[in-house]
Amino acid sequence: MIVSNWKMNGTKSDIEHWVNKVSNKIDYKSHIKCIICPPSCYLDSTRQVISKIDSPIKLGSQEIDSTNSGALTGGINAQMLKDFSTEYVLIGHSEQRDHLNEDNITLRFKLDSAIQNGISAIFCIGEPAEVKLAGNTENFLSEQLEILTPDDLDFITIAYEPIWAIGTGLNADKKYIESIHQFIKTYLNKLNKEKNISVVYGGSVKLENCEDILSCNNVDGLLIGGASLDPDTFSKIYNIS
Ligand code: PEP
Repeated sequence: MIVSNWKMNGTKSDIEHWVNKVSNKIDYKSHIKCIICPPSCYLDSTRQVISKIDSPIKLGSQEIDSTNSGALTGGINAQMLKDFSTEYVLIGHSEQRDHLNEDNITLRFKLDSAIQNGISAIFCIGEPAEVKLAGNTENFLSEQLEILTPDDLDFITIAYEPIWAIGTGLNADKKYIESIHQFIKTYLNKLNKEKNISVVYGGSVKLENCEDILSCNNVDGLLIGGASLDPDTFSKIYNIS
């Protein structure tokens, strides 16, 4: 899968333009999903343009709340996402872990909510720079992965996004990406031998480095922020994948 994460960027018309352009430019392959995660307020207008032009692009949300209903001002739950035909949701993105103080308990509720409502979770994990420098990445990622159960594996994709690489222009090198993706796959394999879980990479992916990253062993796709906002760049990256 190749995922475009718009974060808090763009307008309704920017996103409509993007969907139209990308739908025309990509050489869509059914085994490589093409997903856009617009800001929540544009989920419905994005859904409408996807449906109007019968685009192969799938809709993903950047957000889901951990409870299903009740007094949560600003909340958005799984049922609301389903009303917008949302098929994917980002859970555990480092920006949300950080800004919303999300811990494993909250993230577990979010995973339950998505999975029980038939929405596939893109579960994001990644270490900060000091953890990498201390050589402690695998322990750190294990603590993030430990909330997963064998039954989850039918409904999730893992996005490995080293925090020090997100939005910084510093992508991880090939050797490092390969060793961490191998570690994640081995970890998940111990949880459920039957499943081959996709692990995508994110963190300063651009047109210039995408081919190198996609050629890494055990990299099954990309989660792209900044570079994905330009429809030409995103389409070229998709077509290289
Ligand atoms: C992201 O949005 O998850 C991301 C990896 O951003 P960027 O590509 O801008 O580093």
